[in-house]
Parts: sequence; C-alpha cells; structure tokens
Amino acid sequence: MRRLPPVATASIFACCAWLAGCGGTSDAPAASPGAGGDDLAIAADVGERLARFARVEIGADLASVPEADRAALVDILAAAREFDTLFRLQVSAANPELAGRLAAARGPRAEPARELFRLMQGPWDRIDGDAPFVGGEPKPPGAGFYPVDLTKSEFDSWLAAHPGDREAFVGERTVIVRDGDGLRAVPYRERYAEPLGRAATRLRAAAARTTNESLARFLAMRADAFLSDDYYESDMAWMDLDAPVEVTIGPYETYEDGLYGYKAAYEAFVTVALPAESAALARYKERLPWLERNLPIADEHKNLKRGTESPIRVVDVLFTAGDANRGVKTIAYNLPNDERVREAKGSKKVLLRNVIRAKFDRILVPIAERTLTAEDAARVSFDAFFDEVLHHELSHGLGPGTIVKDGRPSEVRLELEEHYSTLEEGKADVMGIHNILALVEQGEMPADLRRTLDPTYVAGLFRAARFGVHEAHGQGVVAQFNYLLEKGALAIDDAGRYATVAEKFPGAIRDLLHDMLMLQATGDYAGTVAFLDRYGHPTAPLLAAIERLGDVPVDLDADYSQAAELMR
Ligand code: ZN
Repeated sequence: MRRLPPVATASIFACCAWLAGCGGTSDAPAASPGAGGDDLAIAADVGERLARFARVEIGADLASVPEADRAALVDILAAAREFDTLFRLQVSAANPELAGRLAAARGPRAEPARELFRLMQGPWDRIDGDAPFVGGEPKPPGAGFYPVDLTKSEFDSWLAAHPGDREAFVGERTVIVRDGDGLRAVPYRERYAEPLGRAATRLRAAAARTTNESLARFLAMRADAFLSDDYYESDMAWMDLDAPVEVTIGPYETYEDGLYGYKAAYEAFVTVALPAESAALARYKERLPWLERNLPIADEHKNLKRGTESPIRVVDVLFTAGDANRGVKTIAYNLPNDERVREAKGSKKVLLRNVIRAKFDRILVPIAERTLTAEDAARVSFDAFFDEVLHHELSHGLGPGTIVKDGRPSEVRLELEEHYSTLEEGKADVMGIHNILALVEQGEMPADLRRTLDPTYVAGLFRAARFGVHEAHGQGVVAQFNYLLEKGALAIDDAGRYATVAEKFPGAIRDLLHDMLMLQATGDYAGTVAFLDRYGHPTAPLLAAIERLGDVPVDLDADYSQAAELMR
C-alpha cells in the first residue's frame, strides 16, 4: 500500500519507484580522473548515464490557485528546497564536500556529472546497482544514517549490551553516530537542526499567507513537527487537507536505509490540486467492496471486512525534493505510513497526473511503437494508462492480507518472505486490469477501454521488463508475459511484434489473478517459488523486443523551471 522498497519490487507502474536499486545490469565503469585542478574521479560514461533520462518540464496551471495561496507557494517551495539538502545529508554525510569539489570540476565530464549527481541525489547511479560515477567509493548500505563502517553485528551487539538504547536506535527519526568507543542515537531535530529550522520558518510564513484554513493548520503543525520530531498531529491534519495547493513534506519512507530499513528519508511534493479529477475518481472507493466480492477466488479467501475509506487525490506536480526527487520519478503515492493515523483516518492516495502524462508520452508510447504490432501500438491510450495506475494502487488494498496458515493466524507477507513483494506487485498489476474490465462490463467505466486497455497494459509490462528480467524482482513481470502467451491472450508475429488477443484476454487475466491470489491466500511459499520458476524466465522473443528499446528513455529528468521562476 505504501510505496514498496525499491530493491524488492517490480511493478509495471512503479507506484512504488521500484526501479532504483534493482541494479546489476552492468558493471560499474572504471572511474578515471576528470580534467581539472582536483583529482576527482568521474566515470567515463557519465554522459551516457545521464542521457538515459528524458529532460521534461514539469509544472502546473496556477490559474485556479487564489492569490493568497500563490503567495504561500513561494514560501512552501523555499521550505521544500531544503529537503534536497536534508536528503543528500541522509544519503551520505560526505555529499556536501563532494558536491563542492564537483562544482569546481572542469572538463567535458564535469557538467554531465553535476547533472547526474543532482538527478541521483549523490554520486551513486540508482538505476545501476548504486554504481559510483563520481569519486569511486561504494555506497554504504546504511547510507548516511549510520557510521559508514558500522556492521549489523556491531549494531546488534550494542543493543544486546544496552537494551535501554533500543527505542532510540531503531527509531525512524534518529541517526546513529560513533561516540568515543560507543554508539549514540542523535534525533533528526538536532542532527539536521539548521535546514529544518529554515524550512519551519518558511512553512510558518506560508501558513500566515494562505487563507485556506486546512492548509494553514497543516503547515503550522508540520513546522512544529520539524522541530519536535513528533509528526502524529500534523499527519492527521494532512489527511484533512482540502486546499488548492496539496503539500506533502516530511520524513516518510525508509527504503534509503538499506541496512535495517528503520530510518525515514526527507521528501517533499508541492502540487496543485485538481478537484474535478479527484471527484471523478471518488466513486471507485465505494466500489471496492464489490470488487473484493468479484475476485476470482472462493469467498472464504476474500477479505470482506475492509477498513476505512481513503481519499483519492489527483494533482499536478510543481516541485519535488529529496527522496521524492531521486532517480526514477514517483507517479503515485499512498501516505501516511503511521498506523495510528491509518486506523483513525485511512490513508490518502495521490496520483501525480502530469508526471504520469510525461511518462506516457516520452516512454510508454515509444516502447509500444517498438514492441507491439502497428495496430496494437495505435490503440495505446493515456486514459487507459492513468486508469491502470489508479487501479494498481487500489488493488494493493484488495485480496488476502491476514490469512490462516496451518491453523494459526498469519499474514501473506510473513509466509511468502522475500517473494512477497514480487508477487504482490504482479498481483496489483493483474488485479487492476481485472477490475477495470469488470467495471467496464458493469457500464461504470467507458466501453472504449476495452480497445485500449490490453495493449496499454502490455506496453507497461515492457516498460518494467527493461530492468532486471534476469533477477528475482523482474520475475513477476516476466511471469505475466509468459502466462498470457501460454493462454493465447498474447501472440508474437514473424517480426517479433507482440499483439493482444482481445477475446482471450479477460479469461487469461482472470486465471492469472486466480493463481496469484491462491498463492497468497494459502501462504504457499513453495508454490510461489514453483510459479515464478515456471513462468518467470524471459524467452528469446521477449529479450529481443527489450533489445529494441535502447533509444527509449529509462525515466524522466524533471525540469522545475516554473517553480524556480516562482521562487525568484
Ligand atoms: Zn504497487
């Protein structure tokens, strides 16, 4: 439901920014010295690494934003910009010094290296297994949250000897530092006091400018949270936010902490709300109980006691910073993560419309043109892609979660262990399609989707399959190809182009969803391994089709000129 860990997921929609960290697709290039006064090593292929990203202007129409909120936006953007500084410190304490050396570097590699450093929020290539492209140092698994040389066994034995330290050490908002011969936990509010102080000042200024009460309340409470590290009340206020400007700013996801996954990374999304578009999607929330009942499994395995209804918001991004602006761009998120807030108010799903649009235009369409038959490629549509993103997200909340295994209560996540997220992401892809087809049949979604949905989905599969088909995390995507081929819902022509077979498609999707859901419902670890082994290996035609995507951008490099202009 939340964005899933980058190293452990493969989804066609990257709700979940799964791509970063999959890595292992190529070896790190031998770094060689850049020309200049400094001996800073810059990878020889830094230009090619940067060129994988399409530079796209990301901005929003402010016509509907009242004057007072536009004034507030200037302060909100200034606060958000601090989150690049904050996050880079979290990635590595050495980042400021390295950025300074890079700023002074000269020679043909210097400029692309600076751009890539900004894009990756540090010197490691997040879509190539964190290969260093500046400096040559490997990335510490614990990023900047722990001493660079700290091992798990040292951390664990410290806690065994000092049980009173546990709460602070495993807390989401502390950094672990060396203190003489020992270890010490430092709260974020102390460690990052200066940038947090500046951000809090700007949020308070914004709160004073806006006339929207829910926004003023959230901004003021969030400013307090920066300085107290207590985010509960402001998370509650964020759920109640109903304003022309939708702001998400704080420490949220814990994936940057590759050592334990304890520590939350700072990020900011500054967006403009699209209330009409959001209202149009609100009806799907009400259909969730029906969609659960409609799943192709026996009633005993359905999860018919679903909790709180959660709001869905459609927005256009004006600016992102920190964890939200590194490597692969997020297109949707589901927050907050605090279970107390989720129990009281549910969680909010936010869809980033202009980012989804840019990925569709710059990545999905060219992929379709290179992998699908001309007829199928012509049917790929933005509306279908957007609906698939939404229903992928909604599908994470449907199907088995808490289960009974050998007579004892358990969870799918616990039973499937390291294969859980591979299967769960694949499930969300397939269930999203199944649910859209069902809603089309009910007359609740446009009939035209029946023409556009299938090829758009397959193009999305290729988008995901480009990364890591040979590793565990790509297996969930490859399995969808092979299953659909086996069922005759996909065909490959003599030129190696893929085509969907409309009459076989709904049945094959239903069967695939049934098989995936039953592996989850029964907590079948061995069955999941067997399923991924049977369907998860890429075929020669698939590899050949992926080969043809070399010139298609891997992702976007967001150009936030409009936000920069507003801050001027
Ligand atoms: Zn997902």
